[in-house]
Amino acid sequence: MFVSANRRSGVFVTRPSALPQFVPTRTCLQCEVCCRFPDPDSALRPYFTEEEITCALDGGLEGTAFPNRQGSQVMLVPDPQGEGYFCPAFDSATSQCRIYAQRPLDCQLYPLALMWDEAHTHIVLGWDTKCPFMREARPDEIQQHADRVMALLDQPGVSEHLGAHPRLIGRFQEDVIVLAGLPRLTEALAGQWGGAPLHRLTLEDLPHVTRALDLSGLCGPQSLAAYSAVYHYIWNGLLAYWWMELQGAVCLFAQSPDGWFLALPPLGAGSIEAPLGDAMELLRRWNGDSPVSRVENVPSQLVPELERLGYRLTPKNPDYLYRATDLAALAGDRYKSQRALCNRFEREQSFQVSAYQAGDRQGCRALLKDWSRQKQGDGLDPFGVMLLADAESAHEIIWSQAAALGVVGTVVRIHGRICAYTFGYWLTNTTFYVLVEITDRTFPGLAQYLFRETCRTAVAEGAAYINAMDDADLPGLRASKEAYHPAMLIPNFLASRVGES
Ligand code: SF4
Repeated sequence: MFVSANRRSGVFVTRPSALPQFVPTRTCLQCEVCCRFPDPDSALRPYFTEEEITCALDGGLEGTAFPNRQGSQVMLVPDPQGEGYFCPAFDSATSQCRIYAQRPLDCQLYPLALMWDEAHTHIVLGWDTKCPFMREARPDEIQQHADRVMALLDQPGVSEHLGAHPRLIGRFQEDVIVLAGLPRLTEALAGQWGGAPLHRLTLEDLPHVTRALDLSGLCGPQSLAAYSAVYHYIWNGLLAYWWMELQGAVCLFAQSPDGWFLALPPLGAGSIEAPLGDAMELLRRWNGDSPVSRVENVPSQLVPELERLGYRLTPKNPDYLYRATDLAALAGDRYKSQRALCNRFEREQSFQVSAYQAGDRQGCRALLKDWSRQKQGDGLDPFGVMLLADAESAHEIIWSQAAALGVVGTVVRIHGRICAYTFGYWLTNTTFYVLVEITDRTFPGLAQYLFRETCRTAVAEGAAYINAMDDADLPGLRASKEAYHPAMLIPNFLASRVGES
């Protein structure tokens, strides 16, 4: 039998190794496709339900593999020998799964796959042509295997169980051959998540979200950095971002361990009232009465409208916005200390500055580890330590996908070793956003030097403003951002229904 009752919670859980294995083990062990991924946030990394996470942890997998214990895709780990990423359960020395007996349904199914059809209206079962064995297998054998699997998926309770985990259903892939539709599962998913298709945010969706941002009229030189698709996408390895079209507006949802929330107000050309009402209704359905149902990153121009609609607005940390020419010049008494540190760095060090290349990833990774150790050695509080750990997955995405995301990077080498890196991108034609800056703290003035060079380059390319994001409530970060004399602090609010916060 495919499912069994979990005595603790009474819900159905998948039994380990319950699905028949189609590809012979001997073939699997020689293959170099499964369990390895090109990017840290690959949409194809396996998804584990809550029960499967418990089994995997019992089987010896580390807790850090799962950003959300209630169900999540695994956090991939870098291949120390190369540029790609492994499933954390994959043993590269033996090419074996360390938790084979406890591997999740997602892996048991492969090389079959659950995915949406091209129109994203029906869930289908297909077989993946990326699996070399499937390209040699006889079509009638594949069909027989798929029939057995479909019979198991069709058992009472299974569709409902799968429907509770929308991430088990992959996006349409052209190289997956469709075998059959799964109407019961499609219905179960719509029953749980609403009639409009819920899409996992992927790289291909960024232009669509960017168009909706442009239509919203909320993007301008003095807008919050959150009004860009990349800002959210880089956290996609840690949180799960989803989008849905509601009443003609794009609604960007984030799924955190605490529950679901809107990462931005609905984005579109019209009024936000109707789409916001629908989105909040869905959040209530998904979160119950939890106060986690909220709208993040509300700009000041939407505050009166949201108050009129019955929302309570709570201020969050504002973004720091600077005049770009101030930071490029560092002129006058008020920038005396930063200027002195830049001069000291230039005087004392022999260094090279170059554009970030994909091959710099290992050097950047080593620097991030050193930098985290330095920060923790300085007595960082537990919240700061948690932010550092969370940031690792975002950095992996930036290193791996900088070019595709339109993010530009610079690295500084001292004696051949990468000692600093920074990444940023254009929020508008005149506002450059400094997304990240990491420097070896043992070189005085390096951070100030790199920040000034970034601003000088941005000015040369037309920047009027530099957005340096918020201070995450970290006192040290706040002091250093204030010391650069922002031209303005861009207000940011969180909105929740009155009576729900
Ligand atoms: S859980 Fe095991 S089978 Fe699944 S991707 Fe990871 S290593 Fe491979």
